[in-house]
Amino acid sequence: MSSKGRYSLTRRALMAGAGALAGTSAIPTLAAAKMPLAKAQAPGFVRRKLGAFEVTSVLDGDIELELKLFSGDAAEIQKLSAQSYQPSPPRSHVNAFAVNTGEKLYLVDTGTGVLMGSSLGRVAENLVLAGINPDQVDAILLTHLHPDHFGGMTMEGRPVFKNAEIYVSEADAKFWLSAETAEKAPAEFKPFFEMAARAIKPYAHRLKPLPKTGEIAPGVSALALPGHTVGHTGYLFASEKEQMLVWGDIVHNAALQFERPEWTLAFDTDQAQAAAARKRAFDMAAADRLLVAGMHLPFPGLGYVERTGTQYRYHADFWSPKL
Ligand SMILES: [Zn+2]
Repeated sequence: MSSKGRYSLTRRALMAGAGALAGTSAIPTLAAAKMPLAKAQAPGFVRRKLGAFEVTSVLDGDIELELKLFSGDAAEIQKLSAQSYQPSPPRSHVNAFAVNTGEKLYLVDTGTGVLMGSSLGRVAENLVLAGINPDQVDAILLTHLHPDHFGGMTMEGRPVFKNAEIYVSEADAKFWLSAETAEKAPAEFKPFFEMAARAIKPYAHRLKPLPKTGEIAPGVSALALPGHTVGHTGYLFASEKEQMLVWGDIVHNAALQFERPEWTLAFDTDQAQAAAARKRAFDMAAADRLLVAGMHLPFPGLGYVERTGTQYRYHADFWSPKL
């Protein structure tokens, strides 16, 4: 049934109900049956157009990111977090973004898979609920090689996205997939290298370097935003007059880092470079009025950056029922 048909049916039913009400002198007693609680969340996907492209934001889940992981004054961090009604302890979403250009279906990052606990790992499931079969994904564009971004690619050694090519920056591949670097890493970081190697292994023959020009396809290009990792990369999508920057981990906590972009996260490989990349991405988004898509912005992770002098503000994108 078309949505138009459904609407007129609903309207007719409502009109009939209103007519019946008008004919009685008292409001009829409603049925005494109690509505059972749903006890389940709504599907985690949101869709919008970007010019002729279709963007689907897909939720992986949410993760605790302790305030003490952020640089900056502890009392001020506490205050900002409380003021913005963040859950305590604070949690950030993990998002991935599918972009259908009409020619190819791209997926930017893949969530955590089974690597980071039961509050996460829903990218594949939410893609299916959004009408996207993982086999239809032509290419995965990885922002960087951290487990909350590559974890959903591989399950029990098998590729989840059977037909996808993988794009990742040369710098991140060299760092995280190098047995030599893994060998030299402190013990607590060794599992990150092992996880990256295991996730990439089934795709080894389909691993693509990012083109030197940045352009992957018409309207799809990579933008180096290093700092969080050595090869941390954003992806720009442009169609007709609209542009979107999928900026990966430029922001880990929206309540803190728009207000204080200089506050870095303990997991940033190069703290100063990560803060500089954040300011650069904010300035670019604000100046060009880009739609931004963030892996740890509040779901669906789509919005805009306003700049006034040296101050930044985040505005969530407006959800529209029409595509
Ligand atoms: Zn992340």
